[in-house]
Amino acid sequence: MSYTELSRSIRTAHKEHRCIWCPEKILPGEKYEHVVSVYDGQWQHHDFHPECAKAVGVVARDEGGECEIHPHECQRGTGAEVTREYLESKGFLKPNPQLTT
Ligand SMILES: [Zn+2]
Repeated sequence: MSYTELSRSIRTAHKEHRCIWCPEKILPGEKYEHVVSVYDGQWQHHDFHPECAKAVGVVARDEGGECEIHPHECQRGTGAEVTREYLESKGFLKPNPQLTT
């Protein structure tokens, strides 16, 4: 596995973007980081909330320099996994009374 970051820029969103790290949208007017990289020979470009870009750095450091990204599976600004409670609190999921005991 190899990962090379080619460029990183801070932009202001003019339209909605999806943050690759968390399930939340980047809304017009918000700042976000646009990262272009090559991962295992494949070009990729990702958008991050600034706090999510920071979280990636922290997770990568904990894991020895590299961090595999599972799209939208972490909570905004942290390395914590997305939980049902988190999605409900953000309004991505409606609480389903049938699933609670
Ligand atoms: Zn994010």
